[in-house]
Amino acid sequence: MTELLTRRASLLRLGGLLAAVATGGWWKARTSEGATAVACVLTPEQTEGPYYIPNERVRRNITDGHPGTPLTLRLSVVDASTCRPIKGAAVDVWHADAAGVYSGFGAGTSGRTFMRGIQRTDAKGLAVFRTVYPGWYTGRTVHVHVKVHVGGRVVHTGQLYFRDTLTDAVYRKAPYSKRPNRDTRNAADPIFGNGGRRSMLTVRRHGAGYTGSIVMGVKR
Ligand code: FE
Repeated sequence: MTELLTRRASLLRLGGLLAAVATGGWWKARTSEGATAVACVLTPEQTEGPYYIPNERVRRNITDGHPGTPLTLRLSVVDASTCRPIKGAAVDVWHADAAGVYSGFGAGTSGRTFMRGIQRTDAKGLAVFRTVYPGWYTGRTVHVHVKVHVGGRVVHTGQLYFRDTLTDAVYRKAPYSKRPNRDTRNAADPIFGNGGRRSMLTVRRHGAGYTGSIVMGVKR
């Protein structure tokens, strides 16, 4: 996020801002090189789906010991109209475990909380979770659900996505390799098709796993 804001500031300073297009509350700046630098974006709303459970625990490590490739989520919240970080927002995430199962649903999972948790954003608007790379379930591409609450109100409900080639690489290894042939990739997923490209995590290797980052612009 700092990088984005710095980038924006330098663009403005250098007078490289050739076009700022206001479209439904989000806008983007075009650099002098012709590349598109997203400066401040309203992150697309996407359905919460059938597996949301409200009022989960406030905790950073949400795995409850379930196995998988380590994934640190660094989710930043900014005000889409000012680009300023929002401190104290409650970020709520939930996703399937490596076996494609949601806690609280299906046989033997009632009352369990794996892969669910809430973190408050810090002064930089950042919430950090320790989890594992999500597994897949029938009919959906790989995703992490997210909700952002500010002042007790839901200001964003979305889903976060991964590059398919990265998922392919992660799924070649255990425990994911026990469930080969996932049936849906990003391009074929109907929910991804409605704004998913603007909800891609930026993923980098981190130790034995990965870090996935995104800046979510919200309206409050
Ligand atoms: Fe889901």
